[in-house]
Amino acid sequence: MINFEYSRTSSVKAALDVLAKNPGASFIAGGTNLVDLMKKGVATPQRLVDINNLPLKQISIDAKGLTIGALALNSDVAENEKVKKNYPLLVQAINAGASAQLRNMATIGGNIMQRTRCTYFYDTTLPCNKRKPGSGCGALKGYNRMHAIFGASDKCIAVQPSDMSVALAALDATVMVSSSKGERKIPFTDFHRLPGDIPEKDNNLQPGELITAIHVPVNSFNKNHYLKIRDRASYAFALVSVAVALKVNGNIIQSARLAMGGVAHKPWRLKQAEEMLTGSAIHDLSFAKLTDNIMQDAKTYEHNAFKIKLGKAAIAEAINKALQ
Ligand code: SF4
Repeated sequence: MINFEYSRTSSVKAALDVLAKNPGASFIAGGTNLVDLMKKGVATPQRLVDINNLPLKQISIDAKGLTIGALALNSDVAENEKVKKNYPLLVQAINAGASAQLRNMATIGGNIMQRTRCTYFYDTTLPCNKRKPGSGCGALKGYNRMHAIFGASDKCIAVQPSDMSVALAALDATVMVSSSKGERKIPFTDFHRLPGDIPEKDNNLQPGELITAIHVPVNSFNKNHYLKIRDRASYAFALVSVAVALKVNGNIIQSARLAMGGVAHKPWRLKQAEEMLTGSAIHDLSFAKLTDNIMQDAKTYEHNAFKIKLGKAAIAEAINKALQ
Protein backbone atom coordinates (compact mmCIF):
# COMPACT_ATOMS: atom_id res chain seq x y z
CA MET A 1 0.00 0.00 0.00
CA ILE A 2 1.45 3.36 -0.98
CA ASN A 3 0.06 6.72 0.01
CA PHE A 4 -0.34 9.41 -2.61
CA GLU A 5 -2.22 12.64 -3.05
CA TYR A 6 -4.78 13.03 -5.81
CA SER A 7 -5.99 16.16 -7.57
CA ARG A 8 -7.85 17.07 -10.74
CA THR A 9 -7.14 19.88 -13.15
CA SER A 10 -9.17 21.26 -15.99
CA SER A 11 -6.64 23.35 -17.93
CA VAL A 12 -3.24 22.64 -19.42
CA LYS A 13 -1.75 25.58 -17.53
CA ALA A 14 -3.10 24.37 -14.20
CA ALA A 15 -1.76 20.85 -14.89
CA LEU A 16 1.68 22.23 -15.71
CA ASP A 17 1.64 24.42 -12.58
CA VAL A 18 0.88 21.42 -10.37
CA LEU A 19 3.68 19.46 -12.01
CA ALA A 20 6.16 22.34 -11.60
CA LYS A 21 5.36 22.56 -7.87
CA ASN A 22 5.36 18.76 -7.36
CA PRO A 23 8.27 17.13 -9.22
CA GLY A 24 7.25 13.73 -7.78
CA ALA A 25 3.78 13.95 -9.37
CA SER A 26 2.51 11.86 -12.28
CA PHE A 27 -0.26 12.67 -14.70
CA ILE A 28 -2.99 10.06 -14.92
CA ALA A 29 -5.62 9.71 -17.65
CA GLY A 30 -6.89 6.22 -18.57
CA GLY A 31 -4.54 4.67 -16.03
CA THR A 32 -4.42 1.37 -17.91
CA ASN A 33 -0.67 1.00 -17.33
CA LEU A 34 0.07 3.37 -14.44
CA VAL A 35 -2.43 1.77 -12.05
CA ASP A 36 -0.87 -1.67 -12.68
CA LEU A 37 2.58 -0.21 -12.04
CA MET A 38 1.37 1.35 -8.78
CA LYS A 39 -0.33 -1.87 -7.63
CA LYS A 40 2.94 -3.75 -8.11
CA GLY A 41 5.04 -1.06 -6.42
CA VAL A 42 6.95 -0.31 -9.62
CA ALA A 43 5.67 3.28 -9.77
CA THR A 44 5.31 5.22 -6.53
CA PRO A 45 4.17 8.76 -7.42
CA GLN A 46 3.69 11.13 -4.49
CA ARG A 47 0.77 12.77 -6.25
CA LEU A 48 -1.52 11.82 -9.12
CA VAL A 49 -2.78 14.68 -11.24
CA ASP A 50 -5.93 13.58 -13.04
CA ILE A 51 -5.94 15.25 -16.46
CA ASN A 52 -9.07 13.66 -17.88
CA ASN A 53 -10.89 17.02 -17.85
CA LEU A 54 -8.33 18.83 -19.99
CA PRO A 55 -9.65 19.92 -23.41
CA LEU A 56 -7.36 17.55 -25.32
CA LYS A 57 -9.76 15.08 -26.90
CA GLN A 58 -10.03 16.45 -30.42
CA ILE A 59 -9.66 14.31 -33.55
CA SER A 60 -9.42 16.63 -36.55
CA ILE A 61 -8.25 16.41 -40.14
CA ASP A 62 -7.30 19.36 -42.32
CA ALA A 63 -5.10 20.00 -45.36
CA LYS A 64 -1.97 19.42 -43.27
CA GLY A 65 -3.01 16.13 -41.76
CA LEU A 66 -4.51 14.53 -38.67
CA THR A 67 -4.31 16.03 -35.20
CA ILE A 68 -5.24 13.83 -32.26
CA GLY A 69 -5.55 15.32 -28.79
CA ALA A 70 -3.50 13.48 -26.19
CA LEU A 71 -6.68 12.52 -24.30
CA ALA A 72 -8.57 11.09 -27.28
CA LEU A 73 -9.40 7.48 -26.55
CA ASN A 74 -7.71 4.77 -28.63
CA SER A 75 -11.13 3.40 -29.57
CA ASP A 76 -12.48 6.82 -30.63
CA VAL A 77 -9.52 7.30 -32.98
CA ALA A 78 -9.81 3.79 -34.43
CA GLU A 79 -13.57 4.20 -35.01
CA ASN A 80 -13.39 7.67 -36.55
CA GLU A 81 -14.55 7.37 -40.18
CA LYS A 82 -12.13 10.00 -41.51
CA VAL A 83 -9.19 8.38 -39.73
CA LYS A 84 -10.22 4.98 -41.09
CA LYS A 85 -10.33 6.37 -44.61
CA ASN A 86 -7.14 8.44 -44.54
CA TYR A 87 -4.91 6.63 -42.02
CA PRO A 88 -5.73 2.91 -42.26
CA LEU A 89 -2.29 1.89 -41.01
CA LEU A 90 -2.83 3.81 -37.79
CA VAL A 91 -6.27 2.25 -37.27
CA GLN A 92 -4.94 -1.27 -37.85
CA ALA A 93 -2.13 -0.71 -35.36
CA ILE A 94 -4.44 0.68 -32.68
CA ASN A 95 -6.84 -2.23 -33.10
CA ALA A 96 -3.94 -4.69 -32.81
CA GLY A 97 -3.16 -3.36 -29.33
CA ALA A 98 -4.58 -4.58 -26.01
CA SER A 99 -8.29 -5.49 -25.76
CA ALA A 100 -11.46 -3.60 -26.71
CA GLN A 101 -12.06 -2.79 -23.03
CA LEU A 102 -8.58 -1.31 -22.65
CA ARG A 103 -8.84 0.65 -25.90
CA ASN A 104 -12.03 2.20 -24.51
CA MET A 105 -10.10 3.53 -21.51
CA ALA A 106 -6.61 4.17 -22.84
CA THR A 107 -5.69 7.57 -24.26
CA ILE A 108 -3.41 8.30 -27.19
CA GLY A 109 -0.92 10.13 -24.96
CA GLY A 110 -0.93 7.26 -22.48
CA ASN A 111 -0.45 4.74 -25.26
CA ILE A 112 2.89 6.21 -26.31
CA MET A 113 3.94 6.62 -22.64
CA GLN A 114 3.23 3.00 -21.66
CA ARG A 115 6.19 1.20 -20.19
CA THR A 116 7.87 -2.01 -21.25
CA ARG A 117 6.23 -5.33 -20.37
CA CYS A 118 9.57 -6.95 -19.44
CA THR A 119 8.58 -9.28 -16.60
CA TYR A 120 11.70 -8.39 -14.59
CA PHE A 121 10.60 -4.75 -14.63
CA TYR A 122 7.27 -5.67 -13.00
CA ASP A 123 8.71 -7.95 -10.31
CA THR A 124 10.23 -5.83 -7.54
CA THR A 125 12.09 -8.84 -6.11
CA LEU A 126 14.26 -9.10 -9.26
CA PRO A 127 17.06 -6.88 -10.56
CA CYS A 128 16.09 -4.34 -13.20
CA ASN A 129 18.08 -1.26 -14.20
CA LYS A 130 14.99 0.38 -15.63
CA ARG A 131 13.04 0.10 -12.36
CA LYS A 132 16.02 0.47 -10.01
CA PRO A 133 19.09 1.92 -11.75
CA GLY A 134 22.28 0.07 -10.90
CA SER A 135 20.54 -3.13 -9.75
CA GLY A 136 21.40 -5.04 -12.94
CA CYS A 137 19.38 -6.39 -15.83
CA GLY A 138 17.62 -9.64 -14.96
CA ALA A 139 16.71 -10.29 -18.57
CA LEU A 140 20.23 -10.12 -19.97
CA LYS A 141 21.11 -13.59 -18.68
CA GLY A 142 17.55 -14.56 -17.80
CA TYR A 143 14.51 -15.43 -19.87
CA ASN A 144 14.68 -12.98 -22.76
CA ARG A 145 12.36 -14.40 -25.40
CA MET A 146 10.38 -11.14 -25.77
CA HIS A 147 13.40 -8.85 -25.77
CA ALA A 148 15.23 -6.57 -28.19
CA ILE A 149 17.36 -7.52 -31.16
CA PHE A 150 18.22 -3.95 -32.18
CA GLY A 151 19.68 -1.00 -30.27
CA ALA A 152 19.92 -2.63 -26.84
CA SER A 153 22.69 -1.98 -24.32
CA ASP A 154 24.31 -4.06 -21.60
CA LYS A 155 22.10 -2.13 -19.16
CA CYS A 156 18.72 -2.98 -20.72
CA ILE A 157 17.35 -5.12 -23.56
CA ALA A 158 13.65 -4.27 -23.13
CA VAL A 159 11.29 -3.46 -25.98
CA GLN A 160 8.77 -0.68 -26.31
CA PRO A 161 5.30 -2.30 -26.30
CA SER A 162 2.99 0.14 -28.14
CA ASP A 163 1.63 -1.06 -31.50
CA MET A 164 0.28 2.37 -32.33
CA SER A 165 3.74 3.88 -31.90
CA VAL A 166 5.11 1.65 -34.66
CA ALA A 167 2.57 3.05 -37.12
CA LEU A 168 3.18 6.63 -35.93
CA ALA A 169 6.93 6.19 -36.46
CA ALA A 170 6.31 4.91 -39.99
CA LEU A 171 3.92 7.77 -40.76
CA ASP A 172 6.37 10.54 -39.73
CA ALA A 173 4.14 11.73 -36.90
CA THR A 174 5.07 14.51 -34.49
CA VAL A 175 4.44 14.71 -30.74
CA MET A 176 3.30 18.14 -29.51
CA VAL A 177 4.25 18.96 -25.93
CA SER A 178 3.69 21.92 -23.59
CA SER A 179 5.58 23.13 -20.56
CA SER A 180 5.93 26.37 -18.62
CA LYS A 181 8.59 27.30 -21.21
CA GLY A 182 6.13 27.03 -24.12
CA GLU A 183 5.39 24.43 -26.75
CA ARG A 184 7.68 22.18 -28.76
CA LYS A 185 7.33 19.47 -31.40
CA ILE A 186 9.20 16.18 -31.23
CA PRO A 187 9.50 14.03 -34.37
CA PHE A 188 7.95 10.69 -33.42
CA THR A 189 11.08 8.74 -34.25
CA ASP A 190 12.93 10.89 -31.67
CA PHE A 191 10.27 10.59 -28.97
CA HIS A 192 11.26 7.16 -27.63
CA ARG A 193 14.93 6.54 -26.98
CA LEU A 194 17.42 3.69 -26.82
CA PRO A 195 18.41 2.50 -23.33
CA GLY A 196 22.15 3.27 -23.42
CA ASP A 197 23.40 3.97 -19.90
CA ILE A 198 20.10 5.40 -18.64
CA PRO A 199 17.49 2.70 -19.29
CA GLU A 200 15.15 4.19 -16.69
CA LYS A 201 14.37 6.89 -19.24
CA ASP A 202 11.98 5.61 -21.90
CA ASN A 203 11.63 8.78 -23.95
CA ASN A 204 12.91 12.29 -24.54
CA LEU A 205 10.11 14.10 -22.73
CA GLN A 206 11.68 16.66 -20.39
CA PRO A 207 10.65 17.21 -16.75
CA GLY A 208 7.61 19.47 -16.57
CA GLU A 209 6.36 18.64 -20.08
CA LEU A 210 2.86 17.42 -20.97
CA ILE A 211 1.94 15.74 -24.24
CA THR A 212 -0.93 17.74 -25.76
CA ALA A 213 -1.41 16.15 -29.22
CA ILE A 214 0.00 13.97 -31.95
CA HIS A 215 0.09 15.19 -35.52
CA VAL A 216 0.24 12.83 -38.49
CA PRO A 217 1.01 14.58 -41.79
CA VAL A 218 -1.16 14.11 -44.83
CA ASN A 219 0.14 11.29 -47.04
CA SER A 220 -0.56 9.55 -50.30
CA PHE A 221 0.16 5.96 -49.25
CA ASN A 222 -2.36 3.75 -51.04
CA LYS A 223 -1.08 0.39 -49.75
CA ASN A 224 -0.91 -0.10 -45.99
CA HIS A 225 -0.64 -2.98 -43.59
CA TYR A 226 0.15 -3.53 -39.92
CA LEU A 227 1.16 -7.09 -39.12
CA LYS A 228 1.51 -8.21 -35.52
CA ILE A 229 2.91 -11.62 -34.64
CA ARG A 230 2.09 -12.70 -31.10
CA ASP A 231 1.65 -15.79 -28.99
CA ARG A 232 -2.16 -15.67 -29.01
CA ALA A 233 -4.76 -14.02 -31.20
CA SER A 234 -5.58 -11.11 -28.92
CA TYR A 235 -4.39 -9.23 -25.88
CA ALA A 236 -0.75 -10.16 -26.22
CA PHE A 237 2.28 -8.01 -26.92
CA ALA A 238 4.13 -8.34 -30.20
CA LEU A 239 6.95 -10.80 -30.67
CA VAL A 240 7.56 -8.77 -33.79
CA SER A 241 5.33 -6.38 -35.70
CA VAL A 242 5.72 -4.57 -39.00
CA ALA A 243 4.09 -1.34 -40.21
CA VAL A 244 4.11 -0.85 -43.99
CA ALA A 245 2.90 2.18 -45.93
CA LEU A 246 3.55 2.32 -49.66
CA LYS A 247 2.66 4.66 -52.47
CA VAL A 248 2.30 2.45 -55.52
CA ASN A 249 1.71 3.79 -59.00
CA GLY A 250 1.06 1.08 -61.57
CA ASN A 251 3.77 -1.48 -60.97
CA ILE A 252 6.21 0.82 -59.17
CA ILE A 253 6.67 1.62 -55.49
CA GLN A 254 7.11 5.38 -55.54
CA SER A 255 7.64 5.79 -51.81
CA ALA A 256 7.81 3.49 -48.81
CA ARG A 257 7.67 3.64 -45.03
CA LEU A 258 8.59 0.65 -42.87
CA ALA A 259 8.90 0.26 -39.11
CA MET A 260 9.13 -2.69 -36.74
CA GLY A 261 7.82 -3.23 -33.22
CA GLY A 262 8.80 -5.78 -30.58
CA VAL A 263 12.45 -5.52 -31.57
CA ALA A 264 13.86 -2.45 -29.80
CA HIS A 265 13.47 0.05 -26.97
CA LYS A 266 11.76 2.31 -29.52
CA PRO A 267 9.78 1.76 -32.74
CA TRP A 268 12.43 0.63 -35.20
CA ARG A 269 12.20 2.62 -38.42
CA LEU A 270 13.78 0.87 -41.43
CA LYS A 271 15.00 3.77 -43.55
CA GLN A 272 17.54 1.80 -45.56
CA ALA A 273 14.89 -0.74 -46.49
CA GLU A 274 12.59 2.09 -47.51
CA GLU A 275 15.27 3.32 -49.90
CA MET A 276 15.71 -0.19 -51.30
CA LEU A 277 11.97 -0.45 -51.94
CA THR A 278 11.58 2.98 -53.50
CA GLY A 279 11.55 2.72 -57.27
CA SER A 280 11.18 -1.07 -57.25
CA ALA A 281 8.71 -2.92 -59.44
CA ILE A 282 6.24 -4.77 -57.21
CA HIS A 283 6.53 -8.02 -59.20
CA ASP A 284 10.28 -7.90 -58.91
CA LEU A 285 10.84 -7.56 -55.18
CA SER A 286 13.71 -9.50 -53.61
CA PHE A 287 12.60 -10.11 -50.05
CA ALA A 288 15.69 -12.17 -49.23
CA LYS A 289 18.02 -9.29 -50.06
CA LEU A 290 15.78 -6.76 -48.32
CA THR A 291 15.30 -8.74 -45.10
CA ASP A 292 18.94 -9.91 -44.94
CA ASN A 293 19.90 -6.26 -45.10
CA ILE A 294 17.46 -5.31 -42.33
CA MET A 295 18.60 -8.08 -40.01
CA GLN A 296 22.35 -7.73 -40.56
CA ASP A 297 22.69 -5.53 -37.44
CA ALA A 298 20.49 -7.68 -35.20
CA LYS A 299 21.96 -8.98 -31.96
CA THR A 300 20.14 -11.80 -30.24
CA TYR A 301 20.20 -13.30 -26.74
CA GLU A 302 19.70 -16.84 -25.44
CA HIS A 303 15.97 -17.12 -26.06
CA ASN A 304 15.13 -14.64 -28.82
CA ALA A 305 17.24 -15.70 -31.83
CA PHE A 306 13.98 -16.85 -33.46
CA LYS A 307 13.10 -13.16 -33.96
CA ILE A 308 15.51 -12.94 -36.90
CA LYS A 309 13.75 -15.59 -38.97
CA LEU A 310 10.34 -14.49 -37.73
CA GLY A 311 11.13 -10.85 -38.42
CA LYS A 312 12.24 -11.58 -41.98
CA ALA A 313 9.07 -13.55 -42.69
CA ALA A 314 6.92 -10.86 -41.06
CA ILE A 315 8.43 -8.09 -43.18
CA ALA A 316 7.82 -10.04 -46.39
CA GLU A 317 4.27 -10.93 -45.37
CA ALA A 318 3.43 -7.39 -44.29
CA ILE A 319 4.62 -5.97 -47.62
CA ASN A 320 2.75 -8.66 -49.56
CA LYS A 321 -0.42 -8.00 -47.56
CA ALA A 322 -0.12 -4.27 -48.15
CA LEU A 323 0.20 -4.90 -51.89
CA GLN A 324 -2.92 -7.12 -52.10
FE1 SF4 B 1 14.90 -4.18 -16.58
FE2 SF4 B 1 15.39 -3.56 -19.10
FE3 SF4 B 1 16.64 -5.58 -18.02
FE4 SF4 B 1 14.01 -5.77 -18.44
S1 SF4 B 1 15.56 -5.62 -19.99
S2 SF4 B 1 15.16 -6.40 -16.61
S3 SF4 B 1 13.38 -3.63 -18.16
S4 SF4 B 1 16.81 -3.45 -17.37
